[in-house]
Amino acid sequence: MNYCSPCGSSKLQSELPIGDTHSRLVCVQCAHVHYNNPTIICGCIIEQDDKIALCLRAIEPQKNTWTIAAGYLEVGESTEIAAQREALEETGMEVEIQGLYSVFNVQHMHQVYIIYRAQFLRQTQKAGPESAAVAWFTEQTLPLNQLAYPTIKTMLVRHAKERKNGRFGLYQGDAGSGRVIGLHPN
Ligand SMILES: [Zn+2]
Repeated sequence: MNYCSPCGSSKLQSELPIGDTHSRLVCVQCAHVHYNNPTIICGCIIEQDDKIALCLRAIEPQKNTWTIAAGYLEVGESTEIAAQREALEETGMEVEIQGLYSVFNVQHMHQVYIIYRAQFLRQTQKAGPESAAVAWFTEQTLPLNQLAYPTIKTMLVRHAKERKNGRFGLYQGDAGSGRVIGLHPN
């Protein structure tokens, strides 16, 4: 951040506001405190029979790798609606949310991911410019060596195994430590 958003001043300095636990960028001119908190990314694993839909990323980061439809939660939007909207934008598919599947922290990117399972309903438009391609994969054809992130790989491998018996758990993960804890289906 180079300028204070309320007043436009370029005089920002890092300090610990009274009563705070983290140092913040504070405007010398108007005293506005600039908080920098993690962003929330919502997405879904789109399912149809024994397949899931993945997008080939057309843009950085991780261009030319496969990943699930996901993107930033917008102000005023629910996490579920955001996941549906990202599915439509990145794959052109209308989907119905089935349930929460995984929440994970990516601390070094300052992100929290909230991932749902979603049922494919219909293809209503073309995939948007963020996707170079969209394709369906079975457990056997998952592009394990060309997935965008290790966290995505861990989640999709587990999802494919769970899909075989049609029962899904709920998981919480941490990309920093690689730790995943979950409520397993039984
Ligand atoms: Zn200011």
